[in-house]
Amino acid sequence: MSEPRTPVFAANWKMCHGPAETAAFLARFKQRHAPRDDATVVVFPPAISLPAFAAASAERPDIRFGVQDVHTDIEGAHTGAISAAMVPATGATWGLAGHSERRREFGDTDPMVAKKLQRLLDAGLRPVLCVGETLEEREAGRLSAVLETQVKACLEALDAEGRRRLVYAYEPVWAIGTGRTASPMDAAEAHALVREQLTGFEGCTPGRAVILYGGSVKPANIEQLLIAPGVDGVLVGGASLDPDSWAAICAAGA
Ligand code: PEP
Repeated sequence: MSEPRTPVFAANWKMCHGPAETAAFLARFKQRHAPRDDATVVVFPPAISLPAFAAASAERPDIRFGVQDVHTDIEGAHTGAISAAMVPATGATWGLAGHSERRREFGDTDPMVAKKLQRLLDAGLRPVLCVGETLEEREAGRLSAVLETQVKACLEALDAEGRRRLVYAYEPVWAIGTGRTASPMDAAEAHALVREQLTGFEGCTPGRAVILYGGSVKPANIEQLLIAPGVDGVLVGGASLDPDSWAAICAAGA
């Protein structure tokens, strides 16, 4: 079982909101969302918008932000890529790795995801490991096996201190951007499976690990998902792009 803890509301903007839209979003969101000590709010804008995010949120340190992806290397001939080592200078403090869109569109494998987590850790960022099954895998009864492979590949590559800092996001691929949400029971089952994988790894405390749910979360379903056993917060794509909708999500459980 997991212990009760303050929820994390994480927004993944993907390739939406350039610098100007980021500033406009924050102008509105800051009016609609008052700081809460009983929750963590973190936004992952596109990398090009990180400086705009930092400037527009300067007086609101409660609104944290992070990078959506980093390269497996620290430096070198990788046109278009971003090094984790470059991120802290922007003020960002979190980083995603292993999002299903990176796995599908850019071929990120489990060993690459593990390496990216290490780079995020080395840069002092809080890493979020995204895992989740496709519809095909779920229908073939492979949910548990898929989560085990994805989680263990990373835990085996990290040391105890790295594992201690890790946050997890369970995101069923069939629920991302589809409008189809996992039921609170589905989410609870998958989160329990992720938690099980942590047993026996030095640095992991399964009952205290923070596991977010992601997949078509909206203001209309957030409260239900947040009370599902073992759901410690959410990672939200589409519904985080509108400041009013994101503020409604970030008000959940208050
Ligand atoms: C995501 O991209 O992580 C996500 C969960 O997207 P959406 O909320 O749009 O399904």
